[in-house]
Formats: sequence, structure tokens, C-alpha cells
Amino acid sequence: MKKETLLIGAHVSIAGGFDKAITQGEEIGATCIQIFTKSNRQWKAKPITQNDIDSFTAQQKNSQVRVVVAHAAYLINLGSTTPETVEKSVHALVDELQRCDALKIPYLVLHPGTMNTKDEEESLVFIADQINKALEKAQPKHVTLLLETMAGQGSVLGYTFEQLATIIKHIDHKKYIGVCFDTCHAFASGYTFDTPASYKKMWENFDGTIGLEKLKAFHVNDSKKELGAKVDRHEHIGKGKIGATAFTLLMKDKKFANIPKILETPQEHGLEDNKKNLATLRDYFND
Ligand SMILES: [Zn+2]
Ligand SMILES: [Zn+2]
Repeated sequence: MKKETLLIGAHVSIAGGFDKAITQGEEIGATCIQIFTKSNRQWKAKPITQNDIDSFTAQQKNSQVRVVVAHAAYLINLGSTTPETVEKSVHALVDELQRCDALKIPYLVLHPGTMNTKDEEESLVFIADQINKALEKAQPKHVTLLLETMAGQGSVLGYTFEQLATIIKHIDHKKYIGVCFDTCHAFASGYTFDTPASYKKMWENFDGTIGLEKLKAFHVNDSKKELGAKVDRHEHIGKGKIGATAFTLLMKDKKFANIPKILETPQEHGLEDNKKNLATLRDYFND
């Protein structure tokens, strides 16, 4: 296989062991991958053993997979209106941060959470407080927590740059915090970036609100739903409503060359779908 210079990849499974995720990344020609470090729909997690760490590190060492990103479990909701869920979420986030540290995974992507009160600002500050608790307890060494840009479905927060900036403003140790930009979510939330002008304007907006230095990862997904639909439905690259131009601009953008771009697109045909979508991204880059 030709040596891949682009930092592109996909979410892959850890079924059979953490090292299997690297193998799967290699099979699709990825240079970065995203994994769940535990079952994403369960609170409990099997402890990570030294054997897990060794086989994972060894597998990555000789592989072209340069960056591994972890995604936190979907159950975690730091903004829940149920105090018990918030407590469980903080606990689970501490565990996820420590699992990433053990595996030396540099980024953990988190959905910030939902409205905790009727007041948006109050809810954002509440979420930031819970993140502070988790970071204080976990004392991360290697891992940075990335807040994901959300689609704005239901009462989910984090769908505007301003909301993410408000959370970050209230984080005590800002060096532990970054952002993961999901193209499908941003589009569903109402951001346009499908012409050179709108693309430039959106990133100026991001830079002015959050700061480009906080951007550490991309989820590269097309959208089944319209601009501003506030509905989160991922589509194959170039087959959805976002369109080829937006992804071409992103792939050719030199300032993002070293930021991992990870697919979370539908997988109806096993690894073939990911291979195809990665080929599309390479085409856009070479276009
Ligand atoms: Zn996500
Ligand atoms: Zn999504």
C-alpha cells in the first residue's frame, strides 16, 4: 500500500482487543482511528490490563496509524436533570479519562450534555462544573478532553461555538480542554461552509469565539438532513446535503493538515464503506 500522508481514518471496533482496532485501521488504510475504550452503552467497564496496554502499543508502533482518538460513552450526560445520572456521568468520565491515560490515547471526545435548567447559560456552567470535578479527580497526564460540536437535537447543548466557548470559559484547567468539530453536526445546527466564502467566514467565527488552537479533531460526516434541521443523521461523504465542495475545502485546508479527520459514516457493507469514503476524501484532497 502507498504510504498515506493524509491524517484520515474512521471509527473502528475494539472487539477482540484494543490491538484489533489498530489492525482494522490498517485494513482500511487509515492513519488515524477512533475507538470506544469500553462498551458505549454500558456504565461499567472491564479494567484495562497491562497486557491490553502492551499489545495495543506494540500493534500501533509498527503501524501507519499515527493518532488514536477515543469517544466517550453515549450514556454520559453531565447536564442531566437527574442528579444520580450526573453523578454516574462524572464517575464514568473520570474512568474514561484514566483509561485513555493508561492506553496513552491523546484525545477523548465528549458530548457536552443537555439542558440542566431552563436557563442555557446556567446549564453550560453546570456542565463545566462537572467537567472540572472529573478533571480534578482524574488528573489527566496524556489525554485532552474534546467537546464535540453538536447538532442541537432535543435539549442537547454544544451546538453553537458560543455555547462551547461558555463551557470552556468556566473550565479551571483549560490546557485539558479542546474541541472536536463534527461536519454533520455543525451543518445540522445551521453552519454553512460549502463555498470558499462561507467556509472562511465560519472558521473566522470559530477562531474568534473558541480559538482555532482548541481544535484537535474532526468527525468527517455528510448529513442526511437539511442545513439547520437540528437532526443528527450521518451520510456517506459526498452523498448527503453538505456536498463535495465543503469537504474539498476541508481536505485542502493546510492549517488542518495535522488534525485527525475521522469518519463516522454508515457501515452497511463492513469495511468497504469506510474504504470508499476514505477514497473520496483522498480524491477531494487531490482534486
Ligand atoms: Zn460524537
Ligand atoms: Zn452525529
